[in-house]
Amino acid sequence: MDPPTGPSLGLYDYDLLVIGGGSGGLAVAKVSSLLILLCKLGGSSFNMDSIRKFLQQATLLGKAVQDSQKYGWRFRHEVKLVMSHGWSDLVQAVQEQLKSASLELMRELKSCGVFYLRARGEIVAPHTVEVNVNGRKRHLTAETLVVATGDRPQYLDIPGDREYCLTSEDLLSLPHPPARTLVVCGSAEGLECAGFLFSLGLQVTVMLLADLLQGFDLKMAEKIENYMFVGGVDFLHHCSLSKVQRHTQTHRDSNAMFLLKTQHHFRLCVLLAVGRKACTSDIGLECVRVQCSQDTGRIVVNERDQTSVDHIYAIGSVQHGRPSTTGLSVHAGKLLTLERTTVCDYTIVPTVVLTPLEYAACGLSEERANLTFGEDSIEVYHSYYWPLEWTLPARNKNSCYVKVICHIPDHRVVGLHVMGPNAGDILQGFVTAMKCGLTKHQLDATVGIHPGAAQSSFLHHQKAQKLEETLTGRGLEDPKTQQNQKTSL
Ligand SMILES: Cc1cc2nc3c(=O)[nH]c(=O)nc-3n(C[C@H](O)[C@H](O)[C@H](O)COP(=O)(O)OP(=O)(O)OC[C@H]3O[C@@H](n4cnc5c(N)ncnc54)[C@H](O)[C@@H]3O)c2cc1C
Repeated sequence: MDPPTGPSLGLYDYDLLVIGGGSGGLAVAKVSSLLILLCKLGGSSFNMDSIRKFLQQATLLGKAVQDSQKYGWRFRHEVKLVMSHGWSDLVQAVQEQLKSASLELMRELKSCGVFYLRARGEIVAPHTVEVNVNGRKRHLTAETLVVATGDRPQYLDIPGDREYCLTSEDLLSLPHPPARTLVVCGSAEGLECAGFLFSLGLQVTVMLLADLLQGFDLKMAEKIENYMFVGGVDFLHHCSLSKVQRHTQTHRDSNAMFLLKTQHHFRLCVLLAVGRKACTSDIGLECVRVQCSQDTGRIVVNERDQTSVDHIYAIGSVQHGRPSTTGLSVHAGKLLTLERTTVCDYTIVPTVVLTPLEYAACGLSEERANLTFGEDSIEVYHSYYWPLEWTLPARNKNSCYVKVICHIPDHRVVGLHVMGPNAGDILQGFVTAMKCGLTKHQLDATVGIHPGAAQSSFLHHQKAQKLEETLTGRGLEDPKTQQNQKTSL
């Protein structure tokens, strides 16, 4: 819907103007009729979160087809089940779904009475944003501005990376699946892409420049690596990429050659997942003196999401030092518009990594809990579990895992981590419980729903050390240890 062009009644054209139409910006827009500026409808949350979910579903369906024979399904005309994946069919279906979701969103914005412009916005004066509409510059004024411009994939700034490397956002623009893929860096998005490509039967190597899943619980990250490694994904530790160049004998854009510091050469598709850069550098923040962190380039905000300039707010992943999730952006956006009296709580934020075995976490990692409260004040409980539906096809015993981190003095649960099918959905209800101050005693007193993965995971945990002893006693060991033993034999 175009913004009205008639004379403005007040001092400004609008009460509120949002720059950026991702999850944060849209959440603000939907609860108040205002003007929103969009470079791309939906932002990374709208498009990437859906794409990630679709890719994970493609992976899970492949596994389910394999398992289905144990559940009695037979496929006609085939003596033996031969599976293959149609990359272009998936790409087409996902693109069509995104297009129809985008149309649906536009209809929703119209019905909420939101004015929006598809244009890049730049702040040129304290209350003025400049946009370029059909080649014509236009100035829009508003009493309050909200910056919700998100972030975009970062590059390494080495020769050839921008020309020849892909990012997770480019993966589905490939007309064919990449033959071999090197995923550079073990961030959540890197591991998700690696898991998806590997599940299609493609060769994948993950090159780690630093720790796997930085910021997440270290032991959980190790378990994810174990699971993927045993599945067949290669991991290269302590390596860095120094140069990428196109291989002369190939015509496929997805193929490139990368050169390791160790001088080994590989021909393959290079997918960079080395973090994200906030979209804050060219939107006029410096001209109105909005303060950004020198380290991260992200916007410094107070507990009310207000920047160093009173009438300019920032929400979503442009914020400095805050967790970045879609759920949080939406929540903060709604609070900002509905009731500026309630501040958004940036603690106890859940997140999910859609790796082949899903990982969901809420609250503190074990390392962060130790640093915050001291090791002696922390107790860790955990359990391995085997989802009932995995027992029939005899799938991966002892790979699903749960960790509960408690603060000893008040028995409060300060961290919950689960790795298993539908981990995010299992965790969601417990997030509310944590917000209400869930204690270990209350968790113990919770009646489980049987048969279900949530009860077998959260409600049968033991103290960490005890369980390790029990497992070793039963000869049940970490899968990677088993694999390593096999390899060394
Ligand atoms: C690969 C990946 C995995 C993720 N996994 C999860 C997850 O599991 N769970 C989760 O909750 N979150 C996840 N996130 C994070 C989540 O997507 C972000 O936290 C969320 O998108 C932030 O929302 P936002 O509104 O701040 O920014 P965005 O959604 O990025 O939207 C910003 C919008 O602003 C637009 N814009 C930029 N500059 C301008 C300008 N000058 N003028 C006008 N418009 C502009 C952009 O085009 C974009 O449309 C993931 C993100 C990525 C990339």
